[in-house]
Amino acid sequence: MMRIRGSVAIDLGTVNTLVWVAGRGIVLDEPSAIAIDSGTGAIVAIGSAADALAEKEPQDINVIHPLRDGVIADLDATAEMLHGFLRKAGSPGGPLRRHAVVCVPSGATWVERRSVAAALEARRRYSVQLIDEPVAAAAGAGFDLSAGAGGFVVDVGGGTTEVAAVAGWRVVRAQSLRMAGNAMDDAIVNAARSELGLILSSRAARQLKTTLGLTGGPEGWAETVGIDAARRTPRVERVSGEMVAAALEPVVATIARAVQEVLSDIPSGIAEDVVRGKIRLAGGGALLPGLPERVEAMAEIGVTVAEDPLRCVVRGAAALLEVSRNSGVPGVGG
Ligand code: ADP
Ligand code: MG
Repeated sequence: MMRIRGSVAIDLGTVNTLVWVAGRGIVLDEPSAIAIDSGTGAIVAIGSAADALAEKEPQDINVIHPLRDGVIADLDATAEMLHGFLRKAGSPGGPLRRHAVVCVPSGATWVERRSVAAALEARRRYSVQLIDEPVAAAAGAGFDLSAGAGGFVVDVGGGTTEVAAVAGWRVVRAQSLRMAGNAMDDAIVNAARSELGLILSSRAARQLKTTLGLTGGPEGWAETVGIDAARRTPRVERVSGEMVAAALEPVVATIARAVQEVLSDIPSGIAEDVVRGKIRLAGGGALLPGLPERVEAMAEIGVTVAEDPLRCVVRGAAALLEVSRNSGVPGVGG
């Protein structure tokens, strides 16, 4: 433990970024957002403060979610955001060279991932090791990868869903979909627009998603506020669970199909580990009411939600930081 003090694990997610510091635990958990003054180019806010301004369209402020679709759309903004987060987290700088394990969405190209690593190496003097998201998710979901065990993990984030069989800190089989929580929000926005004549913000759609999900929640409906498409003024509306479930269906069906496809391609040597260890859901999407049951019905294998699924990846990256000191576990292009 002493030898890795001050070292960091970072989950650079499409919606949320988390930072873990050895000896301190998770010190930062904020939306992956940065707000920039469009006149001067100055950074106005990062994280929660920036995300709170999204869609509110304040004059001269541009809110960027630089990783939104699982690719690094804006490398400078990503580097600035990360640097700001590390400063906020009180991550020590100084002459000592520290180790960082960083998880970047697997939709990002190798060049993009190396660029993030290079930005950290230059500005923070870290030696950076990149880790594949499904591997981090699997470790964080409790699979004992150092012992060579295999496992099956489905990480439903904001911009991407990663479906993977993993063994010994390596991906065995995987699929990455550019469809996850954000696509669910968009589907609800579209349904409200066409069926109710109501224009919802992403935030309002997200609220409907988390309360109603696929099951309709406790009441079978929920209240929301949007803009009436005809009158252009705010309106309160009751939204039915059926409408939301129907809107989410195509996204959920795509995720379930990817699980089926990866499962149908795993080596026989991992079959027992997968059945006994169960399919583990990670990422914020794992909390969608009804998703575990839905995946289980498709896969015909037990499905569980990992403990604290929003923090799975950073926990897994932290676990790699601890073991790699002892055993030289390989990273990805690190
Ligand atoms: P990423 O790793 O891509 O940043 P996260 O794992 O942090 O993504 O998950 C964020 C996604 O999870 C968002 O789309 C968010 O709306 C969704 N989410 C969070 N909580 C819930 C919930 N209770 N039900 C459904 N979706 C949720
Ligand atoms: Mg993630």
